[in-house]
Amino acid sequence: MKIAIIGGGPAGLLTSYYLAINGCETTVFEEHTRIGYPKHCTGLVTARSIAKVPIHTKECIEKMFGKLIIHGQGREALEIIIPTVAKIDRVCFEEKIYAEAVNQKTRFRLGARIDTERKGDEIKLLNVIEDVDFIIDARGFEAAIKNSEKVNKNKLVGINLFIKGKTSMDDNAIHVFFDNKITPGFFAWLVPINEHEVLIGGGFKNPPTQEEIMRYFHRKGFLINHGQIADKYGGVIMRGPPISDFHGKNWLAIGDAISMVKPITGGGLYPIISSIPFKYNNGNCYEALIRLKTGIRNTLEKLRKQYLLSKFIHKRIFPYALDAFIPLIKMVLEVVYLDYDEHDKLVSQLIENIAKRNVYPA
Ligand SMILES: Cc1cc2nc3c(=O)[nH]c(=O)nc-3n(C[C@H](O)[C@H](O)[C@H](O)COP(=O)(O)OP(=O)(O)OC[C@H]3O[C@@H](n4cnc5c(N)ncnc54)[C@H](O)[C@@H]3O)c2cc1C
Repeated sequence: MKIAIIGGGPAGLLTSYYLAINGCETTVFEEHTRIGYPKHCTGLVTARSIAKVPIHTKECIEKMFGKLIIHGQGREALEIIIPTVAKIDRVCFEEKIYAEAVNQKTRFRLGARIDTERKGDEIKLLNVIEDVDFIIDARGFEAAIKNSEKVNKNKLVGINLFIKGKTSMDDNAIHVFFDNKITPGFFAWLVPINEHEVLIGGGFKNPPTQEEIMRYFHRKGFLINHGQIADKYGGVIMRGPPISDFHGKNWLAIGDAISMVKPITGGGLYPIISSIPFKYNNGNCYEALIRLKTGIRNTLEKLRKQYLLSKFIHKRIFPYALDAFIPLIKMVLEVVYLDYDEHDKLVSQLIENIAKRNVYPA
């Protein structure tokens, strides 16, 4: 069976590997000439998710964290012990999967932007000569914001600044900052990589300049002296809800293309990894596609539930009506297993602490 995968980000790469080990003839079309670029991601993903990927990516892990520190506006910070989170080098991660997909005989056409036309239940490739039996849409955010007004409205601009310099913060923890002045409705982050390198950034409705971001982190005392910006990158952060229209007669979509992200943080690696049934490896391409579709459907269902929860977190019910909502959120977390890549544990702890008035996230 001949399969065209549009997009060579993590969704397209991991899908191509999975389909190739199951005997599909896969070709990945990627508009950029180099896999992994342009960079955009912070690279935080739970160790549990990374372990599910059956490709050796261990050397892409830059640091492991077991602690998250949440900083509110002018109040005491809240320290939370979290399941291990890895900070990965995303370029290295994508390159490893790419190499393994090539090993499994996936063909890559780099520098090839593919346009499509949708007619009813089918998608047609417009600028590809060869015939294909099935199409995987892994085009990332562009497809999602084109297809859903709601997703388009919710999107944020994510900016990462890689700083050569020191932080005054605990450098064994990931730090997040809720501050309506700079990141209304979302948060900023500081990820210490080693003694001399820190990644700072945030998700913004109205993106500030890099100088303004630096000033914010300096003014608050989070960076010591004059850290220098050594690299900057970013992109669109999707924030659910996921798009339910994810398949048709000859196509299936995965990843940011259908806003398949953790609604609280916009993290997209976990939902992609959870959707692909890597354990299925029987060489039956048709069966592999059916299992992939089920995997995506199950993940989308979970993300929808998680999205409801995220609305409580992001919609700024803090601190006004919080007391009224705490019992409800607690009840939801007790009765509904959200499988939120361990985020449900984190949210429970956060709610507990808010209830005790230890922290207000905004
Ligand atoms: C600033 C920032 C920080 C983030 N931090 C994290 C994090 O810490 N943890 C986490 O889990 N997630 C994070 N994310 C989200 C994560 O990066 C995305 O969810 C993930 O990249 C989605 O993978 P994807 O393959 O679906 O899409 P993408 O990575 O966007 O890949 C899509 C690919 O398709 C290609 N393409 C698009 N259109 C076409 C076309 N017409 N023809 C051919 N090729 C095409 C693009 O060039 C691209 O390579 C972050 C995102 C941003 C912006």
